[in-house]
Amino acid sequence: MKKLVFALVFVVFSLSTVYAQQKSLPVVHRTCNEVANRRTEIILPQVKGFNIYKGDFHTHTIYSDGAASTTGRVDEAWYDGLDILAITDHYESNSGVKRFFKVAAPYNSDGKPTKYVAPGSTKMPKDGVDPGIKIDFNAIHKEAEWAVGRRGYDLLLVKGCEMARNNEKLGHFNALFVEDLNSIYNFDVKEAFKNVKKQGGIIIHNHPGNIEANNPEWHEAVRKEGLIDGYEVANGFAYYPRIHKRCVDEKLIMLGNTDVHGMNSHKYGTTGWFRTMTFVLAKELTQEAIKEALLERRTIVYSGGDLIGEEEWLNELLNESIQCQLAKENKKSGTRIYTLSNLTSLTYKLRRGNTIYTLEPFETITVSYGKDKKSGKLLYPRFRVENMWVTDYKHPYIDIKVDKK
Ligand SMILES: [Zn+2]
Ligand SMILES: [Zn+2]
Repeated sequence: MKKLVFALVFVVFSLSTVYAQQKSLPVVHRTCNEVANRRTEIILPQVKGFNIYKGDFHTHTIYSDGAASTTGRVDEAWYDGLDILAITDHYESNSGVKRFFKVAAPYNSDGKPTKYVAPGSTKMPKDGVDPGIKIDFNAIHKEAEWAVGRRGYDLLLVKGCEMARNNEKLGHFNALFVEDLNSIYNFDVKEAFKNVKKQGGIIIHNHPGNIEANNPEWHEAVRKEGLIDGYEVANGFAYYPRIHKRCVDEKLIMLGNTDVHGMNSHKYGTTGWFRTMTFVLAKELTQEAIKEALLERRTIVYSGGDLIGEEEWLNELLNESIQCQLAKENKKSGTRIYTLSNLTSLTYKLRRGNTIYTLEPFETITVSYGKDKKSGKLLYPRFRVENMWVTDYKHPYIDIKVDKK
């Protein structure tokens, strides 16, 4: 009996010691001492009195065929450094919603889940009765607004959707700055365009790489009617030089968007470049100012570190990004040394003859210039900018202003 009591006391004592030892251990040890998520700030200069805002005007959520929720898209855009986001779910493809209903739908008495009817369709049903849309597209945007408000982000949301009527091989189009998305719907996409226009919206032809294959007569007709305001000159990492030329020649809006369906971190995270976006040169971050800037074509497209647009704006951007100063001068030989400081988050690839100077963000390089051997005239910093594109698949030659105030 005594032995048993001893054994019991020993067990209790051992357990309490173990418990005491456990209590001396911390409940949680933080492996990384981060307390907040950090937004990537993309620093860009002011250009001719305009601020440069960063926008993605083409993204998808689970309400069409995307992988992220509306809140997820909003968070992602904010942390990626954007100022403007348009969630543009497909009118016709709602595979995400269908998948959700498969999982969450209540079961019928026969054990089968309640059948969910797809909203909208790319094909007219055999009975010829248009099923219309059975989803409230405005609600998607209300949810995004709720997310922005709840988080306190300074992120401007642009209301839009993607119209993708493949049945006639017409391509995909975004309606942007629309008041009521539900009422623009029409099975005939041209009628839908007219509804967008009635609401003062903007129509962008998305990923137009295969434009020639897409019923050129129809495209020509809708363009002549003024129903197409602009094009995606870049979609993800795809740049369309022919469309770029068309936009410059015909004075149409140029956008660069991700068209993200999955997560942007998967696509861009390892490349070293920011996600594809449109730089919008506007006075302020409001619906009116951003829409006005688009209509006035004050945009520069960013894709994979490349900058695409009107030569005038590219020239201004480079000159406001780089501070160039005369550092040293040899009056006898005429040799001058200049410092070029990049004051932005962008990388510039500056070619001079066979040499390419890669000017990384917030770095300074020095370059020296003498006299032209033939004319004897002084030479000044001038580069072919290898990561900028102007029309005809060409890089611009840009003079860098020296010692500007
Ligand atoms: Zn599309
Ligand atoms: Zn899309």
